[in-house]
Amino acid sequence: DQGLAEYDPTIAELIGKELERQRSGLEMIASENHAPLAVMQAQGSVLTNKYAEGYPGRRYYGGCEYVDQVEQIAIDRVRGLFGSEFANVQPHSGATANAAVLHALLKPGDTILGLALSAGGHLTHGMKINFSGRLYKVAAYGVARDSYRIDVEDVARAARQHRPSLIIAGWSSYPRWLDFSRFRAIADEVGAYLMVDMAHFAGLVAADLHPSPIAHAHVVTSTTHKTLGGPRGGIILTNEQALAKKIDSAVFPGQQGGPLEHVIAAKATAFKMASEPAFVERQKRCLAGAAALARRLCESDVAGAGINVLTGGTDVHLVLVDLRSATIDGQQAEDRLDAVGITVNRNAVPFDPRPPMVTSGLRIGTPALAARGFTESDFEEVADVIALTLTAPEGSDTSQLASRVCALADKYPLYPGVAPS
Ligand code: PLP
Repeated sequence: DQGLAEYDPTIAELIGKELERQRSGLEMIASENHAPLAVMQAQGSVLTNKYAEGYPGRRYYGGCEYVDQVEQIAIDRVRGLFGSEFANVQPHSGATANAAVLHALLKPGDTILGLALSAGGHLTHGMKINFSGRLYKVAAYGVARDSYRIDVEDVARAARQHRPSLIIAGWSSYPRWLDFSRFRAIADEVGAYLMVDMAHFAGLVAADLHPSPIAHAHVVTSTTHKTLGGPRGGIILTNEQALAKKIDSAVFPGQQGGPLEHVIAAKATAFKMASEPAFVERQKRCLAGAAALARRLCESDVAGAGINVLTGGTDVHLVLVDLRSATIDGQQAEDRLDAVGITVNRNAVPFDPRPPMVTSGLRIGTPALAARGFTESDFEEVADVIALTLTAPEGSDTSQLASRVCALADKYPLYPGVAPS
């Protein structure tokens, strides 16, 4: 049996280059993180070989005695972590978790009400060509023009007008907390289910640094790889037994075949980590970093260059930079930061006049750097580099800024001891 480097040097080399890219630069895509080594070891294990359609103790295949234990441990750990009665840990991703919930609770043609993609919602919350927009009627709420915040009275008005069967609270790009109890009151008023998609902020909830949606929502979905810091994947949580049964059968056999038990093992390991004090400390640095970034950008003279922080700050792990009044657009800003070694993603801001492939915004997140060990003062240095890079005169030499990025990357070696495969 040959190893990867020996058998497939082409792929091994590309993996090695990606490791080097992650090591030498600063990952600031808000939906990304650096999974711990133990999580990656679980994911890269022989569990990938096992078919296990069904659920622990109720499988359609033999030989499930060990994966049954793995999956049950993952379920028990995530229930303990978030304080929910029931959990399904099989969704292959956040998108399939959402698809399964809609499949469980709705009929095609029913109406869903979610945050518009253009205001920070996710594709699965009702985007036109996503399954959610094709199978269901979609109504959307947005953010207020003056504050860029979700106005729950607006959500209530939309709910009364469209009478949705499901309201979705959650976002991919929004820097503030949501009022889950108000969302639930609106859902109850119109007879809708409330689903909270906490994909982005699940790690903050686990660390008790963000309000928990569990007691308010009928169903909560999440990814496991963003702030939660585990392997790529999804989960579904609920406190209602009747819904749990529907959700289990919507995931399997409704949406998926065999569960990815190697990923479920990695989820279990990540849930164990997320219940430890070191995880809380890391999430605190993640939040302090985002707050420092927002503060520094607001204080620096970027505003003079027409660069603003949406809502003037953040409550979470990301900052939204508004470039609508700037001479550079989202694409140019992303490219500039990339050139000095900082990876972010351009992102449409609400009421964005530029097309989606260009945009007038940046979404900058701190989870991956917090996982690497960055402290608040390191994040201040990162913020200064970002501000200087965005405001540098066109075509100027930014090699000094790139050196500052290298110094930060060198200060916190990523996966020390791991050799490129
Ligand atoms: N839900 C939200 C709020 C997200 O931001 C995302 C991913 O960006 C997803 C769901 C989908 O997750 P995945 O990419 O794992 O399908």
